[in-house]
Amino acid sequence: MTATAAPTIAKTEFASRIERARAAMEPRGIDYLLVGPSTDMVYIIDFGVRQSERMTILVLPREGTARLVLPSFELDRIASLPPVFEPATWEDGDDPAQLLASLLPSRGAGAIVAVGAQLFTHFFFKIRDAAPDARFVADPILERLRMRKSPHELASLRAASEAADAVFEELLTLPLVGMTEREVLKEIHRLLIEKGHDTVGGGIVGAGPNGAAPHHGASDRRIEHGDGVVVDFGGVRANYRSDITRTFHVGEPTEEFTKVYEIVDEANAAGFDAARAGETAERIDEVTRRVIADAGYGPQYLHRTGHGIGLDGHEAPYLVGGDDTVLEEGMTFSVEPGIYLEGRFGVRIEDIVAVTADGAERLNKSTHELQIV
Ligand code: ZN
Ligand code: ZN
Repeated sequence: MTATAAPTIAKTEFASRIERARAAMEPRGIDYLLVGPSTDMVYIIDFGVRQSERMTILVLPREGTARLVLPSFELDRIASLPPVFEPATWEDGDDPAQLLASLLPSRGAGAIVAVGAQLFTHFFFKIRDAAPDARFVADPILERLRMRKSPHELASLRAASEAADAVFEELLTLPLVGMTEREVLKEIHRLLIEKGHDTVGGGIVGAGPNGAAPHHGASDRRIEHGDGVVVDFGGVRANYRSDITRTFHVGEPTEEFTKVYEIVDEANAAGFDAARAGETAERIDEVTRRVIADAGYGPQYLHRTGHGIGLDGHEAPYLVGGDDTVLEEGMTFSVEPGIYLEGRFGVRIEDIVAVTADGAERLNKSTHELQIV
């Protein structure tokens, strides 16, 4: 299986993101939105700068020109970005918070300034001190916009998932018995890069009883005959994330393992079937939980059903009781029910799913048939 190339996102798309952000600010009475280095900044102006002690913040007014406050020596880094903002540069020794406040009329008096979840707290307090009469509100405007993916974004996520699928298929052809979990994870990372990911990290290889800890990581335990093995991995491909979990078995599984596997797969299918525009995020969680509870394993389902995915590995919406986000076409999230029998084994099956006009699409297409190695 060869992975297709991830598409590049057209520059015009950023102008429409700015417009959508402004449209979301209007009914909330927000005059300015501050965006720091983060996936929010990648989303809104395609700038993937790292957070540092030097202030870089986008000031997006509801009307007028967006300004990017940044160190002057970084100007060359923004030359190729979409032309949706003007720079406002500062030199080492200047106070960038004062510069930012000067971009707000009357230094912010009477203005409502929104900050999302991804602004560095230290800078926030400096800006607040420099614009004491502005009213600051916590409002995750971009987090909400980012839930609905554009066709470009969906294509990027599809390409990332396809690459992760290819990794799982190739993984099963390796001589896994006798390898440690850590060695298997290293192979997974190598394969993710080989299939087109740019960065990888983290991930889970849980063999035998280690599979019963949902956030196990990877240890020096060797994979043995008779193990069920949970592998959960992903990475970043052209800015967008992959995330997949499969559970396979070394040698013939016990009757109970097969039964638990089938229940989890049924829960995954029920979650997928329920994923459609108009349903709520928490409803998908209810549906998968019901299947597992009815089979008698409710207390062994230790976590929420899933999380949104896009530029971040975990982002809104969250498939958990209390998240009443109404699903819309273009939303993407994981569906990942599991059952964990402490000291024995665990099973989890995770796919990334996209809500479509008339249902949902699985972006991961690796088989759900229990694979025996
Ligand atoms: Zn995962
Ligand atoms: Zn996940």
